[in-house]
Amino acid sequence: MGFEKFGIMSYTKETKVEDFVKHLEDGRIMGTRCKKCGTIIFPPRADCAKCLSSNIEWTPLSGRGKLITHTTAHFAPAGFEAPYTLALAELEEGVRVFTRICKDDEKDKLKIGMYVQLVTKRLGDERITYELKKI
Ligand SMILES: [Zn+2]
Repeated sequence: MGFEKFGIMSYTKETKVEDFVKHLEDGRIMGTRCKKCGTIIFPPRADCAKCLSSNIEWTPLSGRGKLITHTTAHFAPAGFEAPYTLALAELEEGVRVFTRICKDDEKDKLKIGMYVQLVTKRLGDERITYELKKI
């Protein structure tokens, strides 16, 4: 138990990587690294997406990266408030992350290639998630 606190809306309470929420609560951005092939995965997964090995370990991520692209959504699914901006960034570790960009940064002109930081974000009701911020 514990994963139900992740994100704006949760559809699952249990997962093999539920420690992810504890790491976020402690301010750590953690991915998983495959011990067999070295692939780093974020958000974390219990099985390697490349070689399917379950021999996985937690690995801290710097969270620093560059913006690859972004888009603003004008239709909001349950729990979201439109408009909001989604962004794809590549972290220093080579991992690509697709998530919301900080609400404060949405009004600024986002530029492809600019530096961003993946940070934890506390939501109401003890919920937590992550988002990208301009550096
Ligand atoms: Zn692997």
